[in-house]
Amino acid sequence: MSDFDGLKALVTGGASGIGRATAELLAARGARVAVLDLDPSSVDKPLLAFRADVTDDASVREAVAAATAELGGLDVLINNAGIGAQGTVEDNDDAEWHRVYDVNVVGMVRMSRAALPHLRESSHATIVNTCSIAATAGLPQRALYSATKGAVYSLTLAMAADHVREGIRVNCVNPGTVDTPWVGRLLDSAADPAAERAALEARQPTGRLVSADEVAGAVAYLASPLSGATTGTSLAVDGGMQGL
Ligand code: NAD
Repeated sequence: MSDFDGLKALVTGGASGIGRATAELLAARGARVAVLDLDPSSVDKPLLAFRADVTDDASVREAVAAATAELGGLDVLINNAGIGAQGTVEDNDDAEWHRVYDVNVVGMVRMSRAALPHLRESSHATIVNTCSIAATAGLPQRALYSATKGAVYSLTLAMAADHVREGIRVNCVNPGTVDTPWVGRLLDSAADPAAERAALEARQPTGRLVSADEVAGAVAYLASPLSGATTGTSLAVDGGMQGL
């Protein structure tokens, strides 16, 4: 993989899990990386850390302005911040639908709006959105979450079409079940976390969960010049789950 020397990147939700692994990989490959997160207190150098809530437009604009000023521009936006939701359409009320949609979909829209003027100044402008296999897999007990990720998938295609002639590429990764603090919290809430983990692993064709580093590798590929002719596509990182 070619390196990111001289490139400047923003990663939302970069304090944990997939975002953290991505921020660290891009930095290890030579990028200057700013993390935007609700709670960036755990983020260490060389990563820059900014507090931002993707559901708050003013917070997003302030953080993007501060981060791009410190980075000296922007080449790569990783729209990764997201939250989960469980249940069928009967289990989540309207307020919950709006709350999760606001983070998972409109959060990416707010970030993209704030970042696009900076990306237009770049000769290597890319956006990578963290989608999910939930966008297309028809997972049970994930109606709301799946609908938000379906929207992220469509948004990725539409943005790719809108911005390709400006030299801005837009792609997404579709992770399967990834071993992150989020999944850890889900397992901890089960009656028997160890048994639940074993059951989850048994459902994976590979017999194990995907690692955050493996998702970061796919994000880095889509964000790098190696994928320079690729836009409007999704890359599954699911240990073969979608093939079943
Ligand atoms: P995580 O909970 O470990 O990390 C998410 C990060 O996002 C946290 O640091 C959190 O503080 C931040 N965040 C949440 N709401 C925010 C907000 N309003 N503003 C700013 N930051 C906010 O989760 P993860 O598993 O690393 O998930 C990251 C992304 O990957 C999400 O978009 C999720 O939908 C997607 N994903 C995860 C999995 C999985 O199995 N873990 C699978 C497919 C897709």
